[in-house]
Amino acid sequence: MTTETATEQIDGFHLIIEALKLNGIDTIFSLPGIPITDLLRLSQAEGLRVIAFRHEQHAGNAAAAAGFLTGKPGICMTVSAPGFLNGLTALANATTNCFPMILISGSSEREVVDLQQGDYEEMDQLAIAKPLCKAAFRVLHAPDIGVGIARAIRAAVSGRPGGVYLDLPAKLMAQTMEVAAGRASLIKVVDPAPRQIPAPDAVQRALALLKGAKRPLILLGKGAAYARADADVRALVERSGIPYLPMSMAKGLLPDTHDLCASAARSYVLAEADVVMLIGARLNWLLSHGKGKTWGGDAARQRQFIQLDIAPTEIDSNVAIAAPVIGDIGSCVAALLAGMGAAWPKPPADWTAAVADRKDKNLSKMAATLALNPSPMSFQSALSAVRDIVKANPEAILVNEGANALDFTRSIVDMVQPRKRIDVGTWGVMGIGMGFAVAAAVVSGKPVIAVCGDSAFGFSGMEVETICRYQLPICVVVFNNNGVYRGTDVNGSGGTDPAPTVFVKDAKYEMLMQAFGGVGVRAATPAELHRAMSEAIAGGKPTLINAIIDETAGTESGRITSLNPAARKK
Ligand code: ADP
Repeated sequence: MTTETATEQIDGFHLIIEALKLNGIDTIFSLPGIPITDLLRLSQAEGLRVIAFRHEQHAGNAAAAAGFLTGKPGICMTVSAPGFLNGLTALANATTNCFPMILISGSSEREVVDLQQGDYEEMDQLAIAKPLCKAAFRVLHAPDIGVGIARAIRAAVSGRPGGVYLDLPAKLMAQTMEVAAGRASLIKVVDPAPRQIPAPDAVQRALALLKGAKRPLILLGKGAAYARADADVRALVERSGIPYLPMSMAKGLLPDTHDLCASAARSYVLAEADVVMLIGARLNWLLSHGKGKTWGGDAARQRQFIQLDIAPTEIDSNVAIAAPVIGDIGSCVAALLAGMGAAWPKPPADWTAAVADRKDKNLSKMAATLALNPSPMSFQSALSAVRDIVKANPEAILVNEGANALDFTRSIVDMVQPRKRIDVGTWGVMGIGMGFAVAAAVVSGKPVIAVCGDSAFGFSGMEVETICRYQLPICVVVFNNNGVYRGTDVNGSGGTDPAPTVFVKDAKYEMLMQAFGGVGVRAATPAELHRAMSEAIAGGKPTLINAIIDETAGTESGRITSLNPAARKK
């Protein structure tokens, strides 16, 4: 009689889960279905937190936000073809914003897909994902799972962070191999986002330019917030005494209430500054490409830029950069601080005084507007309540999307801590609201306030069920002005269909949250809004507040009306 000792086997499912856990991944944002349902069940059984959404785009947005908030790649898992495509918008958006995330999609069998024989959800996902992300990989054999996940993690977080696609065919998950060899094939990634030290001569060039500036300005972008060099960035601003402007997701890197914060004098400093130091910010459309009227028209020719960035190819992308400093923000800022020494000359007093003067004037104008109490509420009067609540709860994360709801919130609501504001980002994309809010609550365990226009909210509104299912401490405030931009448009043909930009009047958004057991409140005054938000934050229950805004209040496209084709006609 012969005895056989069967060697213990491990399957693809468990190798994937163990590889993720080995690399400190603790959460998966997803939507189950063939072929990943069991992968999600097993992940949960093995101790990973699995947050299941109602649509993959929101799971993807959650993964992207988690990536920004934690510095680890956020993981989104989807089914093949349609689920993969639903997740792809979020992956492309993450890449555009430099957020690290990995979209892992199950896929159909290569042999059938490549011969186009009509498999279930057949699609060449790898080829489609490639141009939309930073890197894309496929794993065909179980012994390569460790390498595939290691490469995906490195690609997502090293250098300029971004989105990575990882294709896992259904067959891979069922493959088995000997357990010891399987575990030995997994890779724990060492130093996934290595520091990149700037060249000393680049640092000296930048300091020389800064020292000679008469009207210097520092511009902080979300790359600076992402870099988590908060103390050094603050030291650089304070030691140099240079006024700074935070881009929207860099708000709070230094408190918006800081003496050197020039947000309230934005147009003035952009038009007047002679040396601008960009720290983790791109000169894209959000900064008018570094030229034109925003930058003082012709005077722009006199302006010089210093740019701190991890991506060398970003330099000169819109205008000439006189002093590029390439490296990670932490290392670049530390090198600048070391080069400045203790006795760095402050900028000319007439510049800082002019900025302070402009700022005071604008702040008192804004205070007067916020104090008005019109009925129905204006964006400003509603936001005066939101502003007070955010001030009283500095640990809360603010999610913000919309057109007018975005623009007004960004300028009215002060942030005082880093990485507490996440929003529509580089694309100005709508639909990030509930995905970002879920991620913020899951990764921080802190209260989340999501201020959304009624149109923007509609893109991800069904995820209020997800919020209720996981009992997340999220307070959604829908700024309801009955339509896209505003609710007063009319059908140009005189027909009975509503105009394309208007919604059902007086919609009861609060009932959506009530439908799933959460709290829904209608708020028609700043006092009602304040009370409902206070209760939501104190109680930690999923809450949706339908904030009734004057339907005539919005402007077309918010502050970017100039981008509409009609406005561009000569
Ligand atoms: P904002 O929209 O706030 O202006 P952008 O997304 O345009 O910010 O710019 C972020 C910039 O920061 C990108 O050019 C990116 O390469 C850079 N970046 C991201 N992370 C780091 C980092 N750790 N160190 C240096 N630069 C970074």
